[in-house]
Amino acid sequence: MLDINSKIETIYGVGEKAQKELAKISLATVLDILYYFPWRYDDWTDIKPIRSIRINEEAVVFVTIKKIFIQRTMRKRMIIIKAKISDESGEIEAIWFNQPFLERVLTVGSKWYLVGKGAFFNQKKIFSVKAQEKTAQIVPIYHSSGFLKSNFFRRIIKICLGANNQISEYLPDFVMQKFRLIELQSAINFIHQPASNPILQKAKRRLAFDELFIISLSLLLLRQKRNRKKALVAKAPVDKLKIFTENLPFKLTNDQRRSAWQIILDMEKSRPMNRLLQGDVGSGKTIVALLASISVLENSFQVAWLAPTEALARQHFDTINKFTGNKLAIGLLTSSIAKYKDKKISKVELIKNIAQEKVKIIIATHALLANKVIIPKLNLLIVDEQHRFGVKQRSQLIGAKKSSPHFLSMTATPIPRTLSLALYGDLDISIIREKPLGRKKIITELVGENLRSQKYNFIEKQITSGRQAFIICPLIEEPEPSKSLFDLDKKSVVAEYKKIKKKVFSQKKVAMLHGKMKPKEKQKVMQEFKNGKIDILVSTAVVEVGIDIANATIMMVEGADKFGLAQLHQFRGRVGRSDRQSYCFLFSSSANEKTHQRLMAMEQLDDGFKLAEIDLKMRGPGIFSGIKQSGFGNLKMASIFDTMLLTEAKQGAELTLSRGLKNFPILDEKVTEFTQHEHLE
Ligand code: ADP
Ligand code: MG
Repeated sequence: MLDINSKIETIYGVGEKAQKELAKISLATVLDILYYFPWRYDDWTDIKPIRSIRINEEAVVFVTIKKIFIQRTMRKRMIIIKAKISDESGEIEAIWFNQPFLERVLTVGSKWYLVGKGAFFNQKKIFSVKAQEKTAQIVPIYHSSGFLKSNFFRRIIKICLGANNQISEYLPDFVMQKFRLIELQSAINFIHQPASNPILQKAKRRLAFDELFIISLSLLLLRQKRNRKKALVAKAPVDKLKIFTENLPFKLTNDQRRSAWQIILDMEKSRPMNRLLQGDVGSGKTIVALLASISVLENSFQVAWLAPTEALARQHFDTINKFTGNKLAIGLLTSSIAKYKDKKISKVELIKNIAQEKVKIIIATHALLANKVIIPKLNLLIVDEQHRFGVKQRSQLIGAKKSSPHFLSMTATPIPRTLSLALYGDLDISIIREKPLGRKKIITELVGENLRSQKYNFIEKQITSGRQAFIICPLIEEPEPSKSLFDLDKKSVVAEYKKIKKKVFSQKKVAMLHGKMKPKEKQKVMQEFKNGKIDILVSTAVVEVGIDIANATIMMVEGADKFGLAQLHQFRGRVGRSDRQSYCFLFSSSANEKTHQRLMAMEQLDDGFKLAEIDLKMRGPGIFSGIKQSGFGNLKMASIFDTMLLTEAKQGAELTLSRGLKNFPILDEKVTEFTQHEHLE
């Protein structure tokens, strides 16, 4: 008898080559194979009459073969099989290309289920056949891997299903009853061999539930664990904060005040804060994080602030120095520079000063993690654009200390509400929706090629009157034509830079910026752009995150259709950072109607959340990079957009925990395994 845990090579017909190929997609045991689910199904049970066959529409027909002809084309080996087929509704000619073996199978008088499409062949409407079956069923289609095609999987899964009855049920009975779920063994059986569509749906629901249930349980356990950790209390220094805000060059928005206060109150608790500050680009998150930092510093603790890029780390460092009049004991640490207050010092020196608690607030990039810096009194960890840091790296900093620092992450990625709840179920969220006063709505236009020179004239005028412009391109260099046929219409930074500099704006100062440049060069360009020494910056998406240049009023995007709306919205957020009118010009040569519609949304909406939701509907969840790191990245059956099932799974997880996970040992083991595998700790 086949054992559920035996290696796949014990299965008859799985040789060494197949075994190697299966290892590539992490399939090693019989159980693994059973969890290799079809990605779609051919439903042969939904039969249409011949009369209703339409050009280019797929259909299944049930027919009798009336006549059959073989035709050899000029090119010798091409063989076409033609057959007259009929059902009660009529007749049509069916055609098979290049499948000579079918000649023996498709005998006159035999009955077949055929799947295919209506098409024109020699000016005649015919039925172009893709596949044929003797019996009507729902056929599972598996993703192929290398030389292993769907048929191979269908064959070995059939064998593996013999061990299906060894799979143990791990869902508690009461959960299965409450949410009307079928048993695991049936679900696995029917997902591979669905007897009917309703049964298939039940199998899918059960397996999807399992995925969401396990993740929910893991997140809840994580939260319990975190809640057991102690944090050091930082009392709000109310008077100091008041004085600081009163001396700012602007008035805080209500949302900024509310968010800052939520954060500061969180840190008065002895439970570590775990909060996400979400606010559109330009909404003023930095100052909120600075208020939180001041609160911690006044309590004689240290603060670490992690930025995703060197440019951003420097910007935060400069901003903080500016707002605090160079009075803070602040350090800057990136891979290429170390500063204490406004002086350059050696890295070693800086790290020593941090360890001796002389440096109170550290602004850093990944370099902080790489240098294993010890921050003895760390009590607030701020992470800008959280999704670029893995969960693992975060815990590296928090380390094995007895107390945990408070944790604040900031993001401009406008994640829709339902999604953020699912992703960050154990996080508290503060949202800044209001823009600082006096900001004008950025005028956004989708521009056709015919208006290009008009727009260049407009940009010229803006620059002459002292403003600056960004031009964003999807690529760094021109693709090799042979390699990527589909990238040919993508503009490259290098080519665009040359063109702009030589032909379009030869009187202006033009520079370029892209990810392959050395950090030093990038810094220099950014600095010069910031100081107004450069008029036009031609760049890849590297300017996407955070850079604050108030004098820039033009954002021009080439190949705008190559970017997601959320990303375009981020680009747009690079301008409109002062009270001057700003403009965003989106160029696209795509003729696709859907693409056009998607981009039109940019003209109408300036709410990042709404744009993200449109993106989500039109392009799917892959656009949110945060999903990958949350444990939700490996869903096979479930969708995190199935809020209904997600809610049920969460509820089920809470109920199970309240009855004690230890009472369900198989489940307990499964959750532990998942948590370790996903690095959720
Ligand atoms: P983001 O949320 O994108 O990180 P920043 O914190 O960089 O935004 O703020 C964008 C710009 O707005 C900065 O120049 C900042 O000084 C300014 N700013 C922040 N808050 C206000 C406010 N309440 N009123 C006016 N300007 C503000
Ligand atoms: Mg920012």
